[in-house]
Amino acid sequence: MEAEEALRAAALQEAARHGSAQPKSVLGKVLGAHAGLRSQARELGTIAARIVTEVNALSPAEVAAQAPAPKPRKATGSGHSGLSPLDSDGPVVLRFAPGPSGPLHLGHSRAVALNHAFRGIHNGKLILRLEDTNPMVVDPAAYDLITLDMEWLGAKPDEIVVQSDRLEIYYDDARELLSRDAAYVCHCDAEKWRELKRHSTACPCRDDKSASHLAAFEALFSGGDGIVVVKTDLESNNPALRDFVALRVVETPHPRQGDAWRLWPTYNFAVAVDDYRLGVTHVLRGKDHLNNTLCQQWVYRHLDWEEPQFIHYGLVSIPDALLKTTAICEGIASGDYIGWDDPQLATLVALRRRGYQPQAIMDYWVTAGVKESDITLSWQNLEAANRVLVEPEAKRLFWVPEPVELILDASQPLEKHAPFHPDRAEMGERRETVKPGATIVLPAADVAQLTEGDLLRLKNLCNCRLRDGRLKHAGDDPVKGVPIVQWCAAGAPLQLLRPNGSQTDGIVEPAAAEMEGEVVQFERVGFVRLERSQALFLHR
Ligand SMILES: [Zn+2]
Repeated sequence: MEAEEALRAAALQEAARHGSAQPKSVLGKVLGAHAGLRSQARELGTIAARIVTEVNALSPAEVAAQAPAPKPRKATGSGHSGLSPLDSDGPVVLRFAPGPSGPLHLGHSRAVALNHAFRGIHNGKLILRLEDTNPMVVDPAAYDLITLDMEWLGAKPDEIVVQSDRLEIYYDDARELLSRDAAYVCHCDAEKWRELKRHSTACPCRDDKSASHLAAFEALFSGGDGIVVVKTDLESNNPALRDFVALRVVETPHPRQGDAWRLWPTYNFAVAVDDYRLGVTHVLRGKDHLNNTLCQQWVYRHLDWEEPQFIHYGLVSIPDALLKTTAICEGIASGDYIGWDDPQLATLVALRRRGYQPQAIMDYWVTAGVKESDITLSWQNLEAANRVLVEPEAKRLFWVPEPVELILDASQPLEKHAPFHPDRAEMGERRETVKPGATIVLPAADVAQLTEGDLLRLKNLCNCRLRDGRLKHAGDDPVKGVPIVQWCAAGAPLQLLRPNGSQTDGIVEPAAAEMEGEVVQFERVGFVRLERSQALFLHR
């Protein structure tokens, strides 16, 4: 079994470097290098434990003899496993082109990940193009938010282009289309024009040779209504491919450009012009863009431009996630969400706030690849990938949900010694002195299980017996079969927020005060990220 060999090699390397190997870090290394194995993390954990035991039993000489030489790290290009190189015989230029209507969400990160990975494979260039030619759906804050999201993902663009800064370019190409009789200015009623198109019929403007369409175009800058239309095949069976609007009048002031312009390119026209003018060689997009591609190809054909390669991948559905920007905006306005980073959302800012690691997200999409079949995101697999990254660094903490207070009776002060990490002694421990008569809090659910006279163990502290509604010290050494309970003495209130919107009050141990912003593990709850008096649930 290949996985077993990889685990053995990692265990031997670790033992050679550090004197002994740890199952978790060995597993972490292997899963980090072979993303495809992550779904088997549980089984591999068992195998890793066995292999590590065997390796740790070897003498240093045996380890040295068996350990494979460590592979040299590649300077660039890590994490592209599974992607075949693009078809290319020259420089590769890619683009990620979102509309600045809000920050990026998990769905967007797929295109970022794939374009970034191909940039790495081909040592190419990645352009961030902000598509803001519809003044009505622009959020001025989104320009910076999207750039920051990309940087957080580790995919800083080589160049940032904003479409609303490039209107003169679209105008010039529109003039060229008009002068080639490949476009026309239409003054018909919009509904009438669409209706004619539905019946594959030209409107009176389309073939009107008496008027100068170029002059009509220039007139649109100073007033009046009209659209600039690219001629395609009116007879096409697909109504979406019959003549499409390239520019239209929008009087709404643009959040970035004000009222400097009234003629705005449509999505398809601006994209075609930009992909060509920016030298994009490969356009990666979901197959829901097939009609758009076919429209855009008309612009290339009319202007004798060489086309980029269009690569359409299958759609992705992301369960249990609200991704529609307009719906999120409404939720923020109505108070359902506190903002774009509300932990209930699957925006990247929200996932980052909960403790997701960008590498887990990027690797997930690269592993999913550019297949044509539709896929469904597996939260379970994404969580497993993230867990591998956060687990080795996450400190353990006691958090007592729905705390019940009990007095601890003891003859002398007791010392808590609780390791920050069960497998990493070098991370140190939480120490705390609990004085006789101290108030201890226990989870209500645990207290409900206890009856008078029961023995329980306060984890990492002592045994106690429940008597007369108090805890009586009953020895320090662990006793088999006794329920182990998390507890806090001096602690601080800390509310746990889950992505489903639920909130649970609790008390966290004092060590949490030093861990603002860290991902930690609440034992028996899961991983959380600490943020002031809140803990945002990450995953189990
Ligand atoms: Zn017309």
